Formats: sequence, structure tokens, C-alpha cells
Amino acid sequence: MTHSIADNINTVHTEIARMCDHAGVATATPRLLAVSKVQPKERVIAALEAGQRNFGENRVQEAEERWIELKAQYLDIKLHLIGSLQTNKAAKAVELFDEIQSVDRVKLAKALAKEMTAQNRQLPVYLQVNTGAEEQKGGVMASALPELLEACQKLGLNVHGLMCIPPSDDDPSLHFALLKKLAKQLNLKHLSMGMSNDYALAAAMGATDIRVGTAIFGDRKYS
Ligand SMILES: *Cc1c(COP(=O)(O)O)cnc(C)c1O
Repeated sequence: MTHSIADNINTVHTEIARMCDHAGVATATPRLLAVSKVQPKERVIAALEAGQRNFGENRVQEAEERWIELKAQYLDIKLHLIGSLQTNKAAKAVELFDEIQSVDRVKLAKALAKEMTAQNRQLPVYLQVNTGAEEQKGGVMASALPELLEACQKLGLNVHGLMCIPPSDDDPSLHFALLKKLAKQLNLKHLSMGMSNDYALAAAMGATDIRVGTAIFGDRKYS
């Protein structure tokens, strides 16, 4: 198991390099966030032992249960919140995470800004964009993005970039292209896009962060 997770991480890096070469993109290699939600602890340890340090989680409570302890053991871990956040969990999120990729509304931005000041922790944030305008999905609509960005900046939030989760039944490249266009218009440098099925494509299209779960850890078993 230990061996295969290290292999999977290497494969992701190799695939990214191959796609970027092929596309003729001389981009910097994106950061790999290993999405460890729901995965058994021994798989997470295997990734840590393989040298992986950036991890994505989508729920505050689950992340706390696992990472408070591991962060004390591996001091250079960076934890990224990639799931929707309720304002009443903002304090815990700011305490535990190192970056927050799922800011999608002013109310949440306000709660986070307040907590960052209170805890004196200025975390980089990303704005999550609902590029497919899906009703049930988190993220700000593209049309409301400039307004949200302005509000975040007025609140003093350190907005690094944009994040999206394309609809599962759509060609992801359309969504990656849209996210990239929006970031360019708004002068934001970072693009968090691409998951297990499309991370190499995302990398070739300019992703600076890719978020890979099952391709590293195997299937998630929800209990
Ligand atoms: C679960 C999740 C991922 C990882 O998905 P895989 O298909 O397992 O790679 C990436 N991003 C977000 C926001 C997620 O919730």
C-alpha cells in the first residue's frame, strides 16, 4: 500500500510533465493537493512518508479529527480547505487550515476576515466559481464574481486566485478556459482546477493547483 501510493503520486507528476510538454506550455509545475477526505489514515501516512505535504480536505470537522495530530508530527504540512464552509465554522477553519479555496459569498468572506484578524492568521484564499451555473453546487456565479472579489479585497482578504469544480457531465476544458479568462480579467494569478480524471488537461491549460484524490489514494469508501 505504502509503495503504491508513492507510485501514484509519481505518476501524477509524470503525467503533468508529459501533458505540459505536449501542449508546449512552459508553465511552472502546478502544486499537487492530495485530497485525503474520507481516506483511511494509513493511506494518508503513506502519502506523507512519500514526501507529499499539501493536502485538501472538504469538511472542517473531519479534517480536525485527522490533521491536528498529524500537523504536530509533520510540521511542514499545508492544509487546504476545498469544500463548502458554513460561517459558524469559520473560526475552526482559520485555526486549522493554511489556505481556503472555497470562498463563495460575502457573508463567509466577512466571517473569515474577522477570524483572521482575531487569530492574526492571514490565510491566502481562493474564490470558488460555479462555472457550470449548477443550482446545487457551491461557488459564486461568474457574473457576481467581480463584486465578490471587490468585497473580499475591501475586507483585507488576501485573494490569490480562483477555483472551480466543473459539472461532471460536461467537457472540463470549457470550464478551465472560463476560469482562466476570469482570473486574467481580474488580475488573479492562481487557478485551482483539475481532479483525478482531468488534472493533466488542467495543468496543460494553466492550473497552478490541481486537487487529486482517488488517483492517489484509490476509491473513497463512504461508511
Ligand atoms: C473530492 C474532491 C476532489 C478530488 O476528487 P478526485 O476525483 O477523487 O480526484 C477535488 N476537489 C474537490 C473540491 C473535491 O471535493
